Amino acid sequence: DGGKRPDYLAGLNPEQTEAVETLEGPVLVLAGAGTGKTRVLTTRIAHILNTGRAFPSQILAVTFTNKAAREMKERIALLVGGAVEGMPWLGTFHSIGVKLLRRHAELVGLSSDFTILDTDDVVRLIKQLIQAEGLDDKRWPAKQFAGMIDTWKNKGLGPADIPEGDARAFANGRGRDLYFAYQARLSTLNACDFGDLLMHPIAIFRKNPDLLKEYHGRFRYILVDEYQDTNTAQYMWLRLLAQRSKGEPQNVCCVGDDDQSIYGWRGAEVDNILRFEKDFPGAKVIKLERNYRSTEHILGAAAHLIAHNEGRLGKTLFTDRADPDDVKVQVHASWDSEEEARAIGEEIEQLQRNKHLLNDMAILVRASFQMREFEDRFVTLGLNYRVIGGPRFYERLEIRDAMAYFRLVAQPADDLAFERIINTPKRGLGDTTVRALHDYARARDIPMLAAAADMIETDELKPKARKALFDVIQSFRRWQELLENTPHTELAEQILEESGYTDMWKNDKSAEAPGRLENLKELIRSMESFESMRGFLEHVSLVMDAETNENLDAVSIMTLHSAKGLEFETVFLPGWEEGLFPHQRSLDESGRAGLEEERRLAYVGITRAKRRCHIWFVSNRRIHGLWQSTLPSRFLDELPETHVEVAEMEQSYGGYGRGGYGQSRFDKAEPFANSYSTPGWKRAQANKTDATRDNWGTRSGHAVERIGYGESGPKGRTIDGE
Ligand code: ATP
Ligand code: MG
Repeated sequence: DGGKRPDYLAGLNPEQTEAVETLEGPVLVLAGAGTGKTRVLTTRIAHILNTGRAFPSQILAVTFTNKAAREMKERIALLVGGAVEGMPWLGTFHSIGVKLLRRHAELVGLSSDFTILDTDDVVRLIKQLIQAEGLDDKRWPAKQFAGMIDTWKNKGLGPADIPEGDARAFANGRGRDLYFAYQARLSTLNACDFGDLLMHPIAIFRKNPDLLKEYHGRFRYILVDEYQDTNTAQYMWLRLLAQRSKGEPQNVCCVGDDDQSIYGWRGAEVDNILRFEKDFPGAKVIKLERNYRSTEHILGAAAHLIAHNEGRLGKTLFTDRADPDDVKVQVHASWDSEEEARAIGEEIEQLQRNKHLLNDMAILVRASFQMREFEDRFVTLGLNYRVIGGPRFYERLEIRDAMAYFRLVAQPADDLAFERIINTPKRGLGDTTVRALHDYARARDIPMLAAAADMIETDELKPKARKALFDVIQSFRRWQELLENTPHTELAEQILEESGYTDMWKNDKSAEAPGRLENLKELIRSMESFESMRGFLEHVSLVMDAETNENLDAVSIMTLHSAKGLEFETVFLPGWEEGLFPHQRSLDESGRAGLEEERRLAYVGITRAKRRCHIWFVSNRRIHGLWQSTLPSRFLDELPETHVEVAEMEQSYGGYGRGGYGQSRFDKAEPFANSYSTPGWKRAQANKTDATRDNWGTRSGHAVERIGYGESGPKGRTIDGE
């Protein structure tokens, strides 16, 4: 080049520079966490723009989330030193898909103002189709078929690709026909589902080679971040756009890390990494090995852990950082999740006193129900927090529903609560009934629940609605009577059972239903620390009122899945217990593959940390209403002693690592020796250790296949009062 190198290239290492400057031809950057893959992509775009090789509108860049897309745009603007006009094709697969489809909707029989159906719409529509086919929709639930269609679409399979008479394809092989009928129905409605945002463009490009050629001309450069988590349909889409005719350069650059593939359960195919080199012969594969994010301890812990996976391409990671102040990864134990939240809260306040920003701290949980404990604690402490990638605990749909029941029991005039749950679960009290109740209540200036009680005495409602309403009112009367004398957690449980609300989710076949049930259990748990139902309701309204200002200095709380690509000075990883992490469900459903995906998730978690990583496990969790002793996650045993320190246990047992592998070194932990001296706790802990040892007995060498929560152990805090 000879001339002055632009500033944005200055700080890059040779491999990164190569990845940025190899603009012609296919490039695959395969590298571990924190090695600058995203930074390479961003710099590459800046370089393309800066050297005038393409206009912003000629670059197609795919990120995993919309937030990542926004951040990338901002970074590029900084690098090229000035606002970047547009970048209309920088976004997620879905957002780019919508844009393409709006332009060419007519080619798949839609008009450009098509609507995108959400999951609820899709399920409703499928249910109609199932019924129209004369099938029993109880035996063949619409949710299940919706899931099946989604899976097919992730694999790039249209109805014609489903083998005829495939008995596995729903309702003894009716799946194919139903799938056809579903697509036809969408077309009539001028609508599409999420999967179609990829499937339709694929079909359009395949059927219209000239149009595809136009896009080949337009997208001079194609870039994809988090490539390890693309699914088959996304890969097909990408290949169509990137594989240009012979002689033309295929300027596609994908960056990814096979060790961070964590969306297999949603159809992502790590194998896309291997296919890349086949589909793009002559691809330059660049490895980045220097990690710029984390300390040696954090990196060492993560690398050692992930080495336990068999299915991996393998790679080296190193860091030049050698700061004597660097601390090891800390493993802490707590009695239960409340303790855990309290301890993490203290740690955060300590950091805050030492002038660390809350913005630089994150709590990454395996399951979203875990967030509740932290949210409650932080509200109590007055610590700002934000929940990323989903609603806050008390804002979740199932929690709002459940709360509406509780509110209406405690406060029968709460019409908003009434309207929310009167037909949830479905009781045949649809809009007509609700409107009638509403009118009646308004005319007499009484609450709707009272109006309902009145109206069942009249014949203004249809007999069916009247019967249903009668049952609901009876239930509410009963619950109201129990309010004063029954322990409120018991009552809450009873309400959710008797109303059919819990069953509604138990019968729900969708992917999110188990998580919602977990959240409901967590809700009940959260009530324990309050004296009464009213006290609890009051608390929640305060939590809901807590500020969530974007600009506020705040701790981030999110799931491990949504932490992908992010980094924080300090990362807290709570809940490292068998059954929770690795999650029992993923072990049950996908065995070894499931375990390896869980381990990758652990790797993602640890590698989010720049300087401090705290891992937590608790000795007791409440499961199905009972206190159970839990086993420390096997992942803890897989951490290397050189980079990990066990926070409290060390003092009581003179260091860890006594047992070595095959017997957990967390086995003999007595984390409360310092914090609690009450005999009750001691005894509980001693009991716990025995129980744990029994359970570990089933565990020999590395042959750990399935360990659930411990069967025995202290049954709750009653022990405390012994
Ligand atoms: P992940 O796999 O987690 O997505 P990544 O490979 O995309 O990680 P980046 O997020 O791009 O890594 O980079 C990690 C951190 O290292 C960022 O803070 C980035 O700014 C910094 N970094 C990357 N390359 C360099 C470099 N050459 N010099 C200094 N800092 C760098
Ligand atoms: Mg990245």
